[in-house]
Amino acid sequence: MDDLAVFVRNVQCSNCGGQTALPDTILEQTIQRQSVWTEAGRQVNFACPGCNTLTRSLVFPGALLALPKGLYRDPDDLGFYLVSLPCENKDCESPAIVLAAVKYDKEPGIVLVEVARHWRNRSAQCPKEHLLKEPLEMGNWLRLPK
Ligand SMILES: [Zn+2]
Ligand SMILES: [Zn+2]
Repeated sequence: MDDLAVFVRNVQCSNCGGQTALPDTILEQTIQRQSVWTEAGRQVNFACPGCNTLTRSLVFPGALLALPKGLYRDPDDLGFYLVSLPCENKDCESPAIVLAAVKYDKEPGIVLVEVARHWRNRSAQCPKEHLLKEPLEMGNWLRLPK
């Protein structure tokens, strides 16, 4: 199975500019639930594993990259989550859905909760373009099947 290609697309954090390669299947599941079109392209709420900041982050358009599995970080070492966070408007019933990539998460949810304590929000928004309630409140989460 080692020579199977893994389809990935890069997401660019709007805070630090760092890019994270994510399996296309994970991005598709995220986009189906919540995403926006902007002049720059498709954007999702993303929790950057590099700077722990939540932003609306650009999903790079264009052709998918096919990386040999040996060159791609072992997906077994990453947990991918969709996390619901309430927005700042308490009358709004549309939470923001944030995609989070968490390293070395062997027990689903355990490391996520730890990592989320260090999150700060810069530009993640609910579908009505409200920022998030502060301090951040982690709501329901879903570990995405790969
Ligand atoms: Zn970042
Ligand atoms: Zn809202």
